[in-house]
Amino acid sequence: MSLQGKVVLVTGGSKGIGRAIAEEFHRQGAKVAINYNSSEEEAKKLKEKLGEGVDIFRADVSDRSQVSLMVKEIERNLGKVDILVNNAGIWYLFGIENYDESKFDRMWEINVKGVINTTLEVLPHMKEKREGVIINMASNASLGTSAFGNTFYSLTKASVVMLTRRMAFEFGKYKIRVNAIAPGWVETDMTIGGKSEVEIKELEKWFKERTMLSMVGKPEYIAKVAIFLAEAEYMTGQTVVVDGGRID
Ligand code: NAD
Repeated sequence: MSLQGKVVLVTGGSKGIGRAIAEEFHRQGAKVAINYNSSEEEAKKLKEKLGEGVDIFRADVSDRSQVSLMVKEIERNLGKVDILVNNAGIWYLFGIENYDESKFDRMWEINVKGVINTTLEVLPHMKEKREGVIINMASNASLGTSAFGNTFYSLTKASVVMLTRRMAFEFGKYKIRVNAIAPGWVETDMTIGGKSEVEIKELEKWFKERTMLSMVGKPEYIAKVAIFLAEAEYMTGQTVVVDGGRID
């Protein structure tokens, strides 16, 4: 699929991994709808930086009615969505013994229901066109163990992997492809926001020792795989791990 002129919606696209994905699609000639919820300042700056063919749209992906209004606005401003990147997500670290129900509920609402809400709102156009690409952001935390206490985050991301498989199965007949990316540790606000330089250096050392490539993850590495998945016409239902070769 050529990306030129395609309309791409990136949820949580104003910073971090989503931002890198939005920028890469823009470089490839796509029209990019950047969804944000709270980070309006970053969203406005990014729209200014990228210019032509980019617009920003506020919506909380956990709220279907907000997503529905957003998709209608995107259709008016940029056109119908051809490629959806379900990137928005949050991360709370706690294990079973420290179970926090309200935090788990919020992660579930955004990381899982957010994917469902946004997918259902763009689906009618993709079905009608008999073409479409959906890329879900999972995590390598969903696939194995992790030293961090991210038990319930992993649970939401494992659900994203399963949703990817099920959506691919159900939407294949409409020629809509659904794949996921499972990043390892990537330096964004989620992982290093609010940390001191010393703490960041320690984290980097820890992760370098635990990846085959001895490299720290950058959002651009994930963006390249999103482009690949948008173009890979015979690939669906898969979760691609992009983690520098994590050694647990
Ligand atoms: P980030 O915190 O920099 O960005 C997350 C984005 O999601 C932000 O723009 C935020 O505003 C948005 N968001 C949060 N709640 C939202 C909501 N209710 N509605 C709309 N937008 C909302 O984090 P990131 O590292 O760029 O994470 C992007 C995705 O990648 C997430 O799904 C995350 O779980 C996943 N991921 C990140 C890492 C990592 O190491 N950074 C690893 C694996 C997976």
